[in-house]
Amino acid sequence: MALQLTSRKVAVIGGGAAGLVAARELRREGHKVVVFEREAQPGGTWVYTHEVESDPLGLDPGRTIVHSSLYSSLRTNLPREVMGFRDFPFVATGKDDRDSRRFPGHEEVLRYLEDFAREFRLHELVRYQTEVQYVGLETDGMWKVCSRSKVGDDDRKLAETYDAVVVCNGHYTEPRIADIPGAEHWPGRQTHSHNYRNPEPYQDQVVVLIGSSASAVDISRDIAGAAKEVHVASRSKPAGSYGKQPGYDNMWLHPMIESAYEDGRVAFQDGSVVVADVILHCTGYKYHFPFLRTGGIVNVDDNRVGPLYQHVFPPALAPGLSFVGLPFKVVPFILCELQSKWIAGILSGRVSLPSKEKMMEEVEAFYSTLKAAGIPKRYTHQLGDQQFEYYDWLAAESGSPSVEEWRKNMYFAKSPNRIIRPETYRDEWDDDELMLQAHQDFLQYLP
Ligand code: FAD
Repeated sequence: MALQLTSRKVAVIGGGAAGLVAARELRREGHKVVVFEREAQPGGTWVYTHEVESDPLGLDPGRTIVHSSLYSSLRTNLPREVMGFRDFPFVATGKDDRDSRRFPGHEEVLRYLEDFAREFRLHELVRYQTEVQYVGLETDGMWKVCSRSKVGDDDRKLAETYDAVVVCNGHYTEPRIADIPGAEHWPGRQTHSHNYRNPEPYQDQVVVLIGSSASAVDISRDIAGAAKEVHVASRSKPAGSYGKQPGYDNMWLHPMIESAYEDGRVAFQDGSVVVADVILHCTGYKYHFPFLRTGGIVNVDDNRVGPLYQHVFPPALAPGLSFVGLPFKVVPFILCELQSKWIAGILSGRVSLPSKEKMMEEVEAFYSTLKAAGIPKRYTHQLGDQQFEYYDWLAAESGSPSVEEWRKNMYFAKSPNRIIRPETYRDEWDDDELMLQAHQDFLQYLP
């Protein structure tokens, strides 16, 4: 006998890559979907803007919020074959006005997401310029969603109820700042990479840049073309690797900052001292859900969103509340695609979840493993090398094929290059065989 699927009324918060693919998967499964998107267009992070926030460190909760953290020169750090959704390949269109590079600029990613939204008629599900301001559970088990739509002079507030809420609000907007002894008296300018757009404001300046992530690597090189000196302070560099950055006359690598002083000096743990104009924090972001009220059931503690079963469901509130896209050091689009398929299947009743007690037991066991391995809470959602195992688990649970071997191999072949040769990895490669396999695979999806 065919399984009777339940159709739910689902609110999706956010119309970035996660929200778009969640909407597609939920509708495919037969659910009724409304996507709430604060901006006037889809794409989230990939909607570049020259605007920056009123507080460059992002400490003032009343500041004007700019969602995207993209800088003007940004090109993807994943090859497009790996990055795209599984059944909607991110291939070069061959059109003159498009960027056909394998690691394209950010505009091309936005155009791909626009193509995706058009292809799957997702615009009809999205309420643009509509911010969700409150999400909370009602006594009858429904979720209340309060939103505000502002289009020109029309300013409307709406309260509605849904069977389920899928949170897809992104996690690269709320800056995390390095703790620098003496910073409060240091007279220079401090800012966060969230508000970095281009190197012009750093012309002839002495810049201390903190961080070693993909953005830190890109931005340090971007700024070195304009600044007098760039001093990169990083926790993760191996001892003894400090000194001049090979290939640059004006860039130095240091361990972390020891202290900053009233006279403008910045001292590093390697004993060196510079008088700097700017400290640029490329120190990552915090999870932030200002609209969510769960009565303390879901918390963000040292950047762990928890308790969450498989990074998605808070056991006590499952399956009505779920999160898409929280893990980092991942391939984000397919992560979101597979999490969304799983959520859609669970909401319809096609896929089952363990009992709340069992889920909680698994979450606690996971946290204990992290603790025993000395992994701080803030790395709870870091997947890195384990990500494909997680994707294959999601795929198996939701009845999808496991991740393509070429995609895994291409990811692992490419990742070290980002570190070994950051200047050239986007334009030089030696994995033509894997590219061939990817394009062979894409044939089944291309018109
Ligand atoms: P977002 O894209 O941030 O979308 C969230 C959406 O939610 C936004 O549209 C926002 O307006 C909306 N929203 C938030 N709060 C509300 C609310 N209360 N009400 C209504 N709407 C709301 N990924 C790659 O695959 N390749 C790369 O090369 C790559 N480079 C990156 C470089 C940088 C600098 C950054 C910051 C990220 C990069 N990423 C990259 C990761 C990127 O974040 C993901 O690709 C993807 O954009 C995540 O999508 P998302 O939908 O989870 O979040």
